[in-house]
Amino acid sequence: MSRFFSARYANLTPYTPGEQPQNRRYIKLNTNESPFPPSPGVAKAVEAESRKLELYSNPECVKLRAGMAEVYGLDPDQIVMGNGSDEVLNFAFMAFADEEHPLAFADITYGFYPVFAQVNRIPFTEIPLKEDFSLDPADYVGVHKTVVIANPNAPTGLYLPLEDIERIVKRNPDNVVIVDEAYVDFGGESAVTLLDRYENLLVVGTFSKSRSMAGARLGFGFGSKKLIADLNTLRYSTNPYNINRLTDAAGVAALEENGYYMDNCKIIIENRAWTTEQLRALGFCVLDSRTNFVFAESPQIGGKELYLKLKERGILVRHFDKDRLRNFNRITIGTKEQMQTLIETITEITEATKP
Ligand SMILES: *Cc1c(COP(=O)(O)O)cnc(C)c1O
Repeated sequence: MSRFFSARYANLTPYTPGEQPQNRRYIKLNTNESPFPPSPGVAKAVEAESRKLELYSNPECVKLRAGMAEVYGLDPDQIVMGNGSDEVLNFAFMAFADEEHPLAFADITYGFYPVFAQVNRIPFTEIPLKEDFSLDPADYVGVHKTVVIANPNAPTGLYLPLEDIERIVKRNPDNVVIVDEAYVDFGGESAVTLLDRYENLLVVGTFSKSRSMAGARLGFGFGSKKLIADLNTLRYSTNPYNINRLTDAAGVAALEENGYYMDNCKIIIENRAWTTEQLRALGFCVLDSRTNFVFAESPQIGGKELYLKLKERGILVRHFDKDRLRNFNRITIGTKEQMQTLIETITEITEATKP
């Protein structure tokens, strides 16, 4: 730390992104990216747009929000676009949480929530998940806090039914409830249908997972026009050009080929079912996932050890060195071929470590 670094941030623990190794080609199952490239129209749109990079991007993302409005059945003024959903989440924390509206989220959930809380100096409470990693909605009813729920959750993959989300939104009328739906396209039901009825609901989503665009950085927030206007106040106070021209064009093109992405989600869901079945046959405990990853625990080998042995053999998965998570690995669902290689490799590793 330099002697110039503000004391305000001296105790900040930054987020640790998953490894992105550049030295070797791995089967990359560690950061929940899509194994499929963006749809064909995306490359064309980006190529054409690259000739206009001397001009600033459109801060209102008019075309992109119109496309989103059509796909999701909303008014464009109910939509804000962000540089990844991480940026939308950060804006939402800045806008809707403070000393009077502290944050509440699960003890096991997306690792960025405590970081965004700290960087914005917002007090937060971590509410423990149950022993089986499920979330008890009763813990959030009437908490009088700004609630953040990843649904489905990460890294567990577990999904909370929409009626439970609704109960939490309904019973915290004086706070915003933020539902982070990064994985909803892999088998969940979106809370977007509740927006008509609840002015305190903010739904956040991303193009990073189901739409194969993690590298483009494109996320979104849906809410009442007033909530979205608040988020725009912060966006225009930090970076109105948060969506660059290439990403804007890529997003518009992707929405025109939305069926391609929804078909890919079906393939991921099939591969997830296959992988879950195979891992369970090997004795693994695998949580019921509604995401593009599975969270799995080996009966005979520790999470860290399995992670290291897979890495040696060219497969990257994610291991969290944290209480309650240590014995597990989070494994992204890739193509069928990648999953077959994973299962073969895990079989070899566990055979070799049999007592
Ligand atoms: C991946 C992820 C995000 C954010 O992704 P962006 O790439 O910033 O859009 C947000 N929430 C959860 C739970 C995630 O897993």
